[in-house]
Amino acid sequence: MPRKTKLIVTLGPATEKEETIGELLDAGANIFRLNMSHAKHEWARQMTRLIRRQSEQRNLHAAVLFDLTGPSIRTGDLDEPYELNIGDLVEFRKAGTDPSIPLSTTVNYPGMMDDVVEGRTLVVDNGTLLMEIRTKKDDRILCEVRNAGKLGSRRHINLPGTRLNLPAMTDKDRKDLALAVECDADFVAGSFVRDAAHVHELRSATDALEGTAQIIAKIEDQEAVKHIDSIIHAADGIMIARGDLGIEVDFEDLPILQRRIIKRCHELSTRVIVATQLLESMVQNPTPTRAEVTDCSNAVYEECDALMLSGETSIGKHPLRCVDALVKITRRIERSGGLGYGQKAPLLDERQKVARAAITLADSLPDSLLIVLTRRGVLANKVAMLRPRTRGFYAFTPKETVCRQLSLNRGVKAFRLPFAAGMDETIERATAFLLEHNHVRPGGPMIIVSDLLSDHIAANSILLHHA
Ligand code: PEP
Repeated sequence: MPRKTKLIVTLGPATEKEETIGELLDAGANIFRLNMSHAKHEWARQMTRLIRRQSEQRNLHAAVLFDLTGPSIRTGDLDEPYELNIGDLVEFRKAGTDPSIPLSTTVNYPGMMDDVVEGRTLVVDNGTLLMEIRTKKDDRILCEVRNAGKLGSRRHINLPGTRLNLPAMTDKDRKDLALAVECDADFVAGSFVRDAAHVHELRSATDALEGTAQIIAKIEDQEAVKHIDSIIHAADGIMIARGDLGIEVDFEDLPILQRRIIKRCHELSTRVIVATQLLESMVQNPTPTRAEVTDCSNAVYEECDALMLSGETSIGKHPLRCVDALVKITRRIERSGGLGYGQKAPLLDERQKVARAAITLADSLPDSLLIVLTRRGVLANKVAMLRPRTRGFYAFTPKETVCRQLSLNRGVKAFRLPFAAGMDETIERATAFLLEHNHVRPGGPMIIVSDLLSDHIAANSILLHHA
């Protein structure tokens, strides 16, 4: 059985060589992520060129994902980091104001003073420092330190449970988005998406630049969780960004939220990525911890579309071993079955009903293949989200972009094929291709599902064909 769960690899200093990108593709990477919080523009251009070249050399359709930084709150510059002890008072103030106590720093978001709530927690540097908000004034807040630690310059601030009025995109995001479009990115991820309007804004900005990238919404805080259904409806894919989400919610809620979001994505036909700290210990070590193996297995069992590696491959010591580890885990767990949310998903539209009928037929015929002929990838996505169990599941599309974007869908392998004017000829071409590449044996059953009878008639069809 081919591996179903797709793998996203973040590039960075550990993986920026062309040869390494080729090795990552050989190991099983399907999508490369460029993290715009760190990437310089010329570097991102170069990485995109290398990914495209290495993919082409292997006849693969690896996708490129630009992950935008998004609006985030950061502390200002300090000459020296503060060494903080429990009980210390720290001031966070608007830029341009003077400190009123010795331990004082500015923040880059002036609206923070309006948004915060006294008594709530303020988290600095991804959970390194916890503080309680004691008092708030128009231009500053005073916080009491709850654990000892260091406060440095430009540290990230989280305000769990607080509705922030930050904009959807910053000026930097707009410049990074223009670069993503210039590089013909397949996916653009919006960080700190808090409601569907943010997704619409990112899509409109992409459309205005005539970009074809699909929009991934990163779920990173409680506001996003609250609006999860409308965000899933608006986006082309969801990323469960467990790094920030794990700070913004009680950590014991994280597995429950992950499962709930995956379930809703299955029900609403939207792809879902599980991200962050999957193999964190492998940044240093050559093998994963037992807990990491179990966490990754759980995400595969939940039948997410893709697993994402971040620091493990961007700065880690063993990027290829990380991909190998995920390949081993996914293959093993996929053999043992899955949670089945896709199988149980309610069928909400005609396309899904056609997809379900095709899957039922394919599942009833031993050794059959499921084939989708798809122009824009929509039908292939619908079939994939219902999680067919067939041995082979292939999509044919005339467009390279669609091939690459289907690299995010669990289970499907996409090929580029120019469509003929008639359906018969297109099927012949697809069959010849599958026979030539040993994906099907002569005479093997193929269930072909399509929404293109001809250029003139849009109708859904299911065909049982023998190769
Ligand atoms: C995350 O927070 O889990 C995440 C993927 O976002 P980033 O790494 O961009 O902060």
